[in-house]
Amino acid sequence: MISIQDVSKVYSLESGDFFALKHNNVHIKNGEFVAIMGPSGSGKSTLLQLMGGLDLPTTGEMIVDGVHLNKLNEKERTLFRRTKVGFVFQNYQLLPMMTVAENIALALSANKTPKDEILHRVKQLMKDVNLEGKESQFPSQLSGGQQQRVAIARALAMKPQLILADEPTGNLDQKNGTDILQLLSKLNKEEKITIVIVTHDEQAAKVADRIILISDGEIVQDRRKGVARNEP
Ligand code: ADP
Ligand code: ADP
Repeated sequence: MISIQDVSKVYSLESGDFFALKHNNVHIKNGEFVAIMGPSGSGKSTLLQLMGGLDLPTTGEMIVDGVHLNKLNEKERTLFRRTKVGFVFQNYQLLPMMTVAENIALALSANKTPKDEILHRVKQLMKDVNLEGKESQFPSQLSGGQQQRVAIARALAMKPQLILADEPTGNLDQKNGTDILQLLSKLNKEEKITIVIVTHDEQAAKVADRIILISDGEIVQDRRKGVARNEP
């Protein structure tokens, strides 16, 4: 699903070049649930952004779902992001002036999906994330946990095989955090969606079946759990 080959990311600062990522290699298989962990500023978000085509590596190859991201032009990369990847962020990033249903339908509308099909799909997604009846509410009327469910529904709208989540539980209390992780875990197990999350959350480490540890722009540990992912 994701092949990262000798990938570096350099930011040019006044003080000189800064390596946010240094020659990393990772292969993530279809259906994996991966947690990227490590200290603040170690390059986790940068790596996730590269996986989702939000940014390009300075050197190295990024191949996601068979697509060589370096070879896409700007327009193709936008289409890739919209159709192949579902993004989930710490602060939900919902549009405040739009209802829950409109937020979820955004990518579908942009992709010129017929209206009745959008209605049907939104209804199904609301059911999937356990938010039935909230279609006409605005994000500000929902709790943090509910807003993150809307964000997950939105991420699922185009039926991506890959979900990338940056600190999805970072703004939530323990209970809501657990619910979100269980939802992601369910999507991973039942829908076979590949999930990569950046997290500090020890609970997240428990639901993931692989933990990649980054420090100073380098992968320093890559640990797979056995089949017993639900064991303590
Ligand atoms: P993490 O997600 O692990 O906290 P980030 O990937 O956000 O780390 O950032 C890694 C390093 O790269 C940090 O030192 C950060 O300040 C720097 N960085 C990230 N984005 C930029 C940018 N657009 N310009 C300059 N430096 C950046
Ligand atoms: P988080 O870790 O919560 O995802 P970050 O602070 O790492 O958020 O980054 C948020 C955004 O700001 C990212 O798009 C990242 O590339 C950018 N960014 C991070 N650090 C810098 C920096 N030093 N200079 C410019 N942009 C940065």
